[in-house]
Amino acid sequence: NSIGHDLNDPIALSAIHAGRGQFSDKNRWTAGVAGRERPIVNPAKPDDVVGTVREADAEAVKAAIGRAVGVFPAWAATPVAERSAALLRAANLYEAHEAEFLALCAREAGKTLADGVAELREAVDFLRYYAAEAAKAEVGTAARGVIACISPWNFPLAIFTGQVAAALVTGNAVIAKPAEQTPLIAARAVELLHQAGVPEDALQLLPGDGPSVGAPLTADPRIAGVCFTGSTDVARIIERQLAETAAPDAMLIAETGGLNAMVVDSTALPEQAVRDILASAFQSAGQRCSALRILYVQSDVEDKVLEMLTGAMKALVVGDPWLYPTDVGPVIDAEARDKISAYCKAMEAKGRLVAKLEAPGEGLFVAPHIFRVDGIAEMEREVFGPVLHVATFEPEELDLVVANINAKGYGLTFGLHTRIEARVQRVIDRIHAGNVYVNRNQIGAVVGSQPFGGEGLSGTGPKAGGPHYLRRFRSSAVATGDVGQAG
Ligand code: NAD
Repeated sequence: NSIGHDLNDPIALSAIHAGRGQFSDKNRWTAGVAGRERPIVNPAKPDDVVGTVREADAEAVKAAIGRAVGVFPAWAATPVAERSAALLRAANLYEAHEAEFLALCAREAGKTLADGVAELREAVDFLRYYAAEAAKAEVGTAARGVIACISPWNFPLAIFTGQVAAALVTGNAVIAKPAEQTPLIAARAVELLHQAGVPEDALQLLPGDGPSVGAPLTADPRIAGVCFTGSTDVARIIERQLAETAAPDAMLIAETGGLNAMVVDSTALPEQAVRDILASAFQSAGQRCSALRILYVQSDVEDKVLEMLTGAMKALVVGDPWLYPTDVGPVIDAEARDKISAYCKAMEAKGRLVAKLEAPGEGLFVAPHIFRVDGIAEMEREVFGPVLHVATFEPEELDLVVANINAKGYGLTFGLHTRIEARVQRVIDRIHAGNVYVNRNQIGAVVGSQPFGGEGLSGTGPKAGGPHYLRRFRSSAVATGDVGQAG
């Protein structure tokens, strides 16, 4: 393939770039010889070292911001048509490297083939959509400056690309900090964006973890804004940091976690509901911000729905994401595996287990689990793995269920399975959620047609992949959404 390594061979970031004559001369990927080296290991196969990364440090962050400040006026003055054209070329390059991205999604992020395909599709859609949107006059007048794009590992290509594309096409210079678990996919994406015509200084990648790279980046007063997707806790830290150091008009977009619920009433089609529950709760091993965490099922259909659900769950294949039949891959790292497993053990010890599968012995797997709870009130926070909770409700309690969900303060996704039209409207009028799914799979986003973003503790808005998103990257923008409530 095009980068001259076998899809199954280890990747050394600096080596690839040295080989291609990119970046290494300026040491962009590293903090210099002192940079910490991090091995990237396939979460499904402990003996598969995918690559190594030399990470940045506070010095590298400072230098990168300096370069970004330097290039900003020229990039902001580049006609929007040219910036859009670079994104469109990058979209074609991404597609041309499909096999490589699928291999990286599986080996670095533990994504199944189906998840990898969807991830690449979404990334390409972001590039094309923002390229088209940027041409519209209402996108505001002036670029902001240097934007820090800080992304999570669970959509290491799509979210990374969406953030970076939006900031770049609106004329900002970008410093991208990928999640420490998935820098290789990000590095490959950046390389293709440069190849497509984005100047190297206008898009710089700083691999490393939150404390050593993310924190000095967001603390630098030269940053004009932060585009963040990740946990609610880290969004709070960044929000506080910006309040201390950044200019008063600095931008913060924060897309964070949720405690997503679904209601299934007695008029729902059970086969359809069960299919959607399984997909939402266990696809990507539950490591989606949109994933279903608590199912409320009406008491008179509870037995039937649970019997069908646990029966269907048994057919899920847990294993190597690179194998075609696999439904549920590994979780991202040992810390996640240990945390989720400890939670599951504690819930089992409390006698809450409804059903579970067995995980393969090798690799960082957590098998799907279903637990019984009384309601969302007893759930503390998002368990970011294949763990579903089930509660029941009586028909007259529906408003109360919705009120209890709202009371948790999150507001990312919500699902409803019912055939009663008046009930759909009643619930939609009351629920606080950025994305509501009625009689359908409670999963994520479709760029351009189903923009994605949360409310309250789940995000600041505006929704990614929607018509208002780009405005926030321009300084004349009128704020949309609950800006400032990220934490
Ligand atoms: P995380 O918050 O741990 O990390 C996200 C990013 O922030 C990483 O790049 C990390 O290195 C960086 N970071 C950590 N500490 C920092 C600091 N002090 N300063 C600056 N940056 C710092 O989240 P994660 O584990 O990578 O991702 C999973 C979380 O992301 C889940 O909570 C999930 O719900 C959420 N998520 C939300 C959406 C959405 O659209 N709402 C999408 C995907 C994931």
